[in-house]
Amino acid sequence: MTTTTYAVLSEGLHKRYGEVHALRGLDLAVPEGTVCGVLGPNGAGKTTAVRVLTTLTAPDAGSARVAGCDVVRDPAGVRGRIAVTGQYAAVDGDLTGAENLRLFARLLRAPRARADELLERFELAGAAGRPVRGWSGGMRRRLDLAVSLIVPPRVLFLDEPTTGLDPHSRNGIWDTVRALAHQGTTVLLTTQYLEEADRLADEIVLVDDGRAAHRGSPAELKALIGGWAEVVVADPARLADAAALLDRLTGSVPVLDADRQTVGALTTDPTLTLPRLVRAADAAGVPLLDAALRPPTLDAVFLRLTGRSPASPTGPQEVPA
Ligand code: ATP
Repeated sequence: MTTTTYAVLSEGLHKRYGEVHALRGLDLAVPEGTVCGVLGPNGAGKTTAVRVLTTLTAPDAGSARVAGCDVVRDPAGVRGRIAVTGQYAAVDGDLTGAENLRLFARLLRAPRARADELLERFELAGAAGRPVRGWSGGMRRRLDLAVSLIVPPRVLFLDEPTTGLDPHSRNGIWDTVRALAHQGTTVLLTTQYLEEADRLADEIVLVDDGRAAHRGSPAELKALIGGWAEVVVADPARLADAAALLDRLTGSVPVLDADRQTVGALTTDPTLTLPRLVRAADAAGVPLLDAALRPPTLDAVFLRLTGRSPASPTGPQEVPA
């Protein structure tokens, strides 16, 4: 029998800032070598959880162990085994990329060659001689991640690592996270991007109001709420009829998109098949251009499980240097 070793294990974490209860009994269990995606709306407590787990702030109640060390009794033990990268790069803008990495390598007593190796690996060697203040947001974020990997951590905390990055930079970070997990690093990632959690996480924890409201693999969370039924009507004037049809078939509130002449609704009814959907439209005299039954998106899961939309940043943008 194999026993699971948890790289992050928290029980009943509480944290209050004055009247605000940022954490209200947060339980987390992240097996070693896995990626855990912590998702939640603005103010759910994600950053507070990371601050407690990385020993930046003490919990008011509850306990947590990270890489085997207690965050309250042995903060130095935790710090020696983790790395943290946040939304804002912590590197020095006046220094060049190479200087930044070599400085940290010296502080951490790592060989200078490690700095050069990381510059290559993060495709930063070309820009390494230029001051970081002139770099793009994506390049800075990669440098920040490279700094946190000078001494390979047991657990890597990534607090919204791709917020504000363009899709290309985001993909680069995702590849790195996958490679790290593959090599055995445990990653705890907070994100507002459902797609990010979907792509990277072995397990997703939906944090709502300071607690873990739901947890499971992306597939498990999607299975929890069934599927998404969608029809495209041939005649825009029949959109309301199609909505009434979907309401009747699925029992959930249809979502109309007049521009695309489309109506969709969540369904948990396993007997609702595509032929049944098409036959029902036929019987109701609503001509269709298209019909589909799909697994739900994580957005739909999120909405259903928390009753709220995830925080929606304005969209991918390169952070100005
Ligand atoms: P976001 O997605 O916006 O970053 P989050 O899930 O990370 O949100 P937290 O930053 O952990 O949420 O905040 C949880 C709650 O605690 C919020 O209501 C926030 O305003 C409050 N809070 C967090 N830090 C502090 C602080 N230092 N002082 C006072 N209140 C705080």
